[in-house]
Amino acid sequence: MPPMSALRIEARDPASRARAGVLHTAHGPVRTPAFVPLATKATVKGLLPAEVAELGFDIVLGNTFHLFLDPGEELIAGFGGLHRFMGWDRPIVTDSGGFQVFSMGHGTVADEVKGRTSGPAHHPERTGRVLAIEEAGVRFRSYLDGSERFMGPETSMAVQAALHSDLALVFDECTPFHVDRDYTARSTERTHRWLRRCLDWHGAHGPRDQLVYGIVQGGVHEDLRVASAEHVAAAAVDGIAIGGSLGADKPQMHEVVGWTTAVLDRVALDRPRHLLGIGDVDDLIRGVELGIDSFDCAMPTRLGRHGVALVPEPERRWRVDLTAGRFKHADEPIFDGCPCPACAAGLSRGYLRYLVHARELTGMRLLTIHNLAFVARLMADLRAAVLAGTLPATAGALRAGAAPGAAAAAPAAA
Ligand SMILES: [Zn+2]
Repeated sequence: MPPMSALRIEARDPASRARAGVLHTAHGPVRTPAFVPLATKATVKGLLPAEVAELGFDIVLGNTFHLFLDPGEELIAGFGGLHRFMGWDRPIVTDSGGFQVFSMGHGTVADEVKGRTSGPAHHPERTGRVLAIEEAGVRFRSYLDGSERFMGPETSMAVQAALHSDLALVFDECTPFHVDRDYTARSTERTHRWLRRCLDWHGAHGPRDQLVYGIVQGGVHEDLRVASAEHVAAAAVDGIAIGGSLGADKPQMHEVVGWTTAVLDRVALDRPRHLLGIGDVDDLIRGVELGIDSFDCAMPTRLGRHGVALVPEPERRWRVDLTAGRFKHADEPIFDGCPCPACAAGLSRGYLRYLVHARELTGMRLLTIHNLAFVARLMADLRAAVLAGTLPATAGALRAGAAPGAAAAAPAAA
């Protein structure tokens, strides 16, 4: 067991498993619960590092699989590591590459379930493909040049060591939704064997100041999830991530996450927990209540690049598609009271629609910033509410359509 948790929990919500705290890393603190924007290819697409920090984010996520293929971890190490390479001196988490590698082999069902459908690695039929899944690791064809590549537990940890992220994730098999229970059980056992190899490699060669999170698998099967959570928590991991297929719909996903955090409350209460690839507004609220400390997701940035803005409208799944024709002459901002640069400047939905249709970079940038600002304020509200002991009221207000930033201040005190 690690001698001390990297997470200092400052408050717990008495009505749920929610907690608020500070995660301590080599590049500084992360206020939790936290959302982690994706810097998949060593940039939050379209934004400067200072802009990401100014929005209120403490940590970003770099993608081990993509950076391994291009430009390669050796090149980035030559620049002094990922922080210096991309000009971000705050915490960085790197995923293990497992999700991307296995997405190629398992098809796109997991992508569909998680809403991950963009990027070249997410269209395996057109690009890379898995050649063999073996105990040693996975052989696959690169989507870039068709060359044969290999990634296993040791490769993944070595790449993450070269990138020198603050927080590394172990290499796991990301089981998709459509496989049966037997496959999921065998796959989860292999993930546990790979956990051991990742920790062995990291113990012998990894950076001393790099935290390592294990990953709980087990699909949608309660006994497998419980066993996996217990197994991972019993290992010398600094934190625990929840991955794999979380179900076909939101209620099932919340149930699967709930099984896992119930175990973690029992056997690893103080260690940090990360929920992989989840970031819808309602899922963030529920995830916090279920005791998740951090989330990463392509949703806010990817939606922004495609002309979709986040709005405090639960009946519309908190989204408005500004590319729709009805906004052609719309003179109002995305929503009143939003402090993001686009809304604060009074830029109209009609103008933003035009920019997106014209494929102007400014449109993608403005909507990315608007969406990240929305999620940043949402997480700040939830964190403040846990600290103030008012999470039920704040979560209720947000679910009812309160704008983030207003929810914490308003009826929560009651
Ligand atoms: Zn805005």
